[in-house]
Amino acid sequence: MGKTTGFMEYERIEEGYKPVPERLKHYKEFVIGLDESQAKIQGARCMDCGTPFCNNGCPVNNIIPDFNDLVYQGDWKNAITVLHSTNNFPEFTGRICPAPCEAACTLNVNDDAVGIKSIEHAIIDRAWAEGWVLPQPPKHKTGKKVAVVGSGPAGLAAAQQLARAGHDVTVFEKNDRVGGLLRYGIPDFKMEKSHIDRRVEQMKAEGVVFRTGVLVAAKDGMGKDSKVTNWAKDTVSPEQLQKDFDAVLLAGGAEQSRDLPVPGRDLDGVHFAMEFLPQQNKVNAGDKLKGQIRAEGKHVIVIGGGDTGSDCVGTSNRHGAASVTQFELMPMPPEEENRPLTWPYWPYKLRTSSSHEEGCTREFAIATKEFIGEKGKVTGLKTVRVEWKDGKMVEVAGSEQTLKADLVLLAMGFVSPVAPIIEAFGVDKDARGNAKATTDFDGGYKTNVPKVFAAGDMRRGQSLVVWAIREGRQAARAVDEFLMGFSDLPR
Ligand SMILES: Cc1cc2nc3c(=O)[nH]c(=O)nc-3n(C[C@H](O)[C@H](O)[C@H](O)COP(=O)(O)OP(=O)(O)OC[C@H]3O[C@@H](n4cnc5c(N)ncnc54)[C@H](O)[C@@H]3O)c2cc1C
Ligand code: SF4
Repeated sequence: MGKTTGFMEYERIEEGYKPVPERLKHYKEFVIGLDESQAKIQGARCMDCGTPFCNNGCPVNNIIPDFNDLVYQGDWKNAITVLHSTNNFPEFTGRICPAPCEAACTLNVNDDAVGIKSIEHAIIDRAWAEGWVLPQPPKHKTGKKVAVVGSGPAGLAAAQQLARAGHDVTVFEKNDRVGGLLRYGIPDFKMEKSHIDRRVEQMKAEGVVFRTGVLVAAKDGMGKDSKVTNWAKDTVSPEQLQKDFDAVLLAGGAEQSRDLPVPGRDLDGVHFAMEFLPQQNKVNAGDKLKGQIRAEGKHVIVIGGGDTGSDCVGTSNRHGAASVTQFELMPMPPEEENRPLTWPYWPYKLRTSSSHEEGCTREFAIATKEFIGEKGKVTGLKTVRVEWKDGKMVEVAGSEQTLKADLVLLAMGFVSPVAPIIEAFGVDKDARGNAKATTDFDGGYKTNVPKVFAAGDMRRGQSLVVWAIREGRQAARAVDEFLMGFSDLPR
């Protein structure tokens, strides 16, 4: 509960950022977390509101009032125990979660929310520094074998829970390193990859086996050449997994990027964000790449106003782009939400990321009609302003423009998982092309195929790291129940 009167005595403190000119020189994290006394004061702001909406706003249902109070009391060791009881990887969410918990905080009705994410960040960083995060190998082994396909946050959370329940877990990952989009989507400046490596070591000590560079694909090779990251050197078929394992969890993400099939799409210099971003993360990891897509000296246009687009902005500025412009189809949202209308839900409002602050022109209500080029290379975009009437998008007559661009990055979200892997297992799809499975307490995460489960973006569609962790944890419980007839794993 923090301090009863803390919310009246103390102001919210934001985490700091290193100055823009300094942070643009590198790809390392630049957020300056709260120190011990700042975190204590922030914990004290938790008002013991009685019905902690934050706990419901958080997809993993972190027990926020309890860890706020423990930090206020200076009991950091119990704070990490509480935090780990609902979240396997608070160092990921403490850095990159958009914090829907804070939108739901009761203080947010008419004041500044408790800085929950920054407290979470402080607790887990202290726990690692103090050596409190240790492997938790199971006391008993069950003799059951589980294959997890995909090593993003959903696959990792599930694998950790299942290994702790005593099962022999093998994670299959087509890329050369573990982590999914944490590794090859989210830039290092938002989350350095050493955080993943540390967890992987912990999980190996708990018994999890990682097989990287292995694509799970149909025997006929279907899906091998899809246009998503794939550095696999080896293949294993669904039939083999079903034969060798007692259960299979599909956690392959939603990797199919949304395209913009307008004239000129095939010009050189027009790329998916997910061709551009993973390359930089690989270079940061020390890999040598031939023909990396680079932005230096170029006029960059990022199409798509979301997080992925913002990550392209930050990466382009670090490359030394001549200019960076980001397009959003929707009109500019209001700067402030209408709190009585939106609380405790995630509000619709203008969000300015640290990457935007580093330099970017943001254009709203704009659509791209055509990419234009010379000698096969993109040189510009033909655009038109749009407005929304009766829920329909209409072009504004006479608003056509031509803008200069040497590099165009398409960051318009993801349509669905890559179909062949779902099809190769014979798993039914929902209307959006995701693996079909419910989240029911009983029988949830099960697909139509015996002993095959699905979780994370592959089941729910493009989402957030914190949702992937939730689904991984819940799916682990469902798999454990299926294998053992009961489960002591939390849901
Ligand atoms: C650029 C970008 C930035 C983002 N930023 C944020 C953010 O700041 N905060 C946030 O909360 N969320 C963010 N997200 C969303 C978040 O990363 C995802 O929602 C989350 O990673 C989904 O987790 P997942 O485990 O379901 O799938 P993924 O992380 O996509 O992992 C799936 C893994 O499965 C592997 N795989 C797929 N098919 C196969 C196969 N056939 N065989 C073997 N392996 C396979 C893939 O290679 C991949 O490693 C961002 C997404 C992107 C693209
Ligand atoms: S995981 Fe996200 S929603 Fe949950 S407490 Fe942390 S910042 Fe808030």
